[in-house]
Amino acid sequence: MIKKALIIFIMTFGLIFTACTKNSEAPEEVISTGNPFFSEYNTPFNVPPFDRIKPEHFIPAYERGMEEHKADIEAIINNPEEPSFENTIAALDRSGKLLSEVSRVFSGLSGANTNDELRAIQKEMAPRLAAHNDEINLNSNLFARVKAVYEQRNEKNLTDEQLYLLENLYKRYVRNGAELNDEDQTKLKHINQELSRLSVQFGQNVLAETNDFKLIIESEEDLAGLPESSITGAVEAAREAGLEGQWVFTTQKPSMIPFLQYSEKRDLREKLYRAYTKRGDNDNEHDNKKILSDIIKLRVERANLLGYKTYADYILETRMAGNPQSVYDLLNRIWEASLPVAKSEREEMQAIIDREGGGFKLASWDWWYYAEKLRKEKYQLDDNELRPYFVLSSVRDGAFWVANQLYGLTFEPLDGMPLPHPDAQVFEVKEADGSHCGVLYMDFHPRTSKRAGAWCGTYRSQSRKYGEEIDPVVNLVCNFSRPVGDDPAMLTLEEVKTLFHEFGHGLDNLLSNITYGTTFRSPDFSELPSQIMEHWAMEPEVLKHYAEHYQTGEPIPDNLVEKIVNSKFFNQGFITVEYLAACLLDMKYHTLTEPQYLDLNQFEKNYFEEIGLIPEIVSRYRSTYFSHIIGGYAAGYYGYIWSEVLDSDAFEAFKETNLFDQKTAAAFRRHVLEKNGTADYKTMYVNFRGREPGIEPLLRNRGLQ
Ligand SMILES: [Zn+2]
Repeated sequence: MIKKALIIFIMTFGLIFTACTKNSEAPEEVISTGNPFFSEYNTPFNVPPFDRIKPEHFIPAYERGMEEHKADIEAIINNPEEPSFENTIAALDRSGKLLSEVSRVFSGLSGANTNDELRAIQKEMAPRLAAHNDEINLNSNLFARVKAVYEQRNEKNLTDEQLYLLENLYKRYVRNGAELNDEDQTKLKHINQELSRLSVQFGQNVLAETNDFKLIIESEEDLAGLPESSITGAVEAAREAGLEGQWVFTTQKPSMIPFLQYSEKRDLREKLYRAYTKRGDNDNEHDNKKILSDIIKLRVERANLLGYKTYADYILETRMAGNPQSVYDLLNRIWEASLPVAKSEREEMQAIIDREGGGFKLASWDWWYYAEKLRKEKYQLDDNELRPYFVLSSVRDGAFWVANQLYGLTFEPLDGMPLPHPDAQVFEVKEADGSHCGVLYMDFHPRTSKRAGAWCGTYRSQSRKYGEEIDPVVNLVCNFSRPVGDDPAMLTLEEVKTLFHEFGHGLDNLLSNITYGTTFRSPDFSELPSQIMEHWAMEPEVLKHYAEHYQTGEPIPDNLVEKIVNSKFFNQGFITVEYLAACLLDMKYHTLTEPQYLDLNQFEKNYFEEIGLIPEIVSRYRSTYFSHIIGGYAAGYYGYIWSEVLDSDAFEAFKETNLFDQKTAAAFRRHVLEKNGTADYKTMYVNFRGREPGIEPLLRNRGLQ
């Protein structure tokens, strides 16, 4: 189960939908004024005009966006009427339209298609945007109006959605320091700008370290054991690096994982895996140790300043989990169930090594290799045997089919659309009655300009905040192996799950049905819509539908489906422990009560010893490249397994009826997907399921009971 970062945008925004023909051309004034952010986009479905956006447009657009945002705020403050929901809360929701548009486009491009110019802009703008946000968050006149509306909230006949928005917006102001005195607000502003600067640096360092390392292989015998697809990929990586005639492997997962699974060269596996786990920890210009220590220290200071004991207390207050203790309760329970399973997996692998006369002790860089052997031995399942059935386009269409069966949606490829990158594909999503639902971009393959992982963002989110329906434009980004030679791109089982996972986030955004644009989504709930889709991906009935052999067109045979089903507990000890170690590390950092400098390597080492992590397993992320806890997942990486309690329990509702039960699907859509971010999490879930979730389905699914 690959863990993905969901891009969390600070601001939300919307555009008024204008119907344009697919081939409509930019009007004269766009060409003469140059900056496409300063006029109507005039594109089909009003998608961003990627073909006309140049790096030099961003800073002027950000600057004008901030000016306009400030003017919007001034207008709210200076409104002579008494503060009301409409003239204050709804007006705030509508404010800063241009800034939101620019931020979303920039965020999309800098994540998946960055370059030196964009990196420089990102560095320059991060502290300026943090300062801008603080100016608004800490504006006492504005807060006074929000508070006035908040205090009369029970007398105003507000809808449930309005009340939820008001209460949470008020809380957000308080949590951003609106009630601090001037001196503390100044301190807070300084901390925010520092945090923002350091976070950008951290991310850029991880990307640089990922791109810097190359395992260069010069002799064919060092390729022993590797499958053809992996070798062909390495030939192409070498060509790209100007090393014609050699083979290059990188620490990007599509290159590294097959190497770790299949390479018979133990020393080379070690070299590659070490390079991966040392990213950001090489005492060079891209070292992240001091940066992360500073970030954690500043976060404790920030939490303390706002009256919280720890950063985790601060973060979790607004999450479904509520507080650090309930997170630890869940993590510890699963940790205790999974650690013994991982240990017995280790023994099974050591037995293979001994039987083969290896004469060494299993190490972390051996795990994938012997796990693969074990998989073949125990389940007769080989990823290379599956791949021909998992052609990327068929898997994608399989995900579309599931959405069609559940919600009646259809997906039609669009031609002639502006694309964020030539690799991207774009679809129009329609409802069962043929009406427009939204636009979906998909961008599947790795490149050096793209950060690792897979994620789903939006170029525009659904709302009705300007009175008319605004349709979503969703962007799904992955890092799947490229097609090699004349063959189409083919996925591993894990990549299939990742595609369905991110597509689930896509559906969550596409099927959103809310009035205001300001939402309060929580990572420990928002992985429910994504992870539940992984269940459908692995159901025999669904596999039979989409998994077809790329040459013969034959559907996947029953014996392979059976093997997939039988192997679902395979390596679950490792997968769970590797992931939980990272969750626990995240919680450990963010439950520190005192600001302090940390020796990160020592801190990690001590902590993993304390919790009994076995040395054959390295935490899924080590500190110096744990990008999730820099982005929106600080004290939040646990969210995937918290959500898994929900998705495992929720999927049982389909299993109890049938996989595409229309009543259950409609309830899931209405109570979860449509409302996400605008209602209480537990209430949303109980409204769907009729009761609270239980942990048993999760433990059962992972074979941990
Ligand atoms: Zn996700």
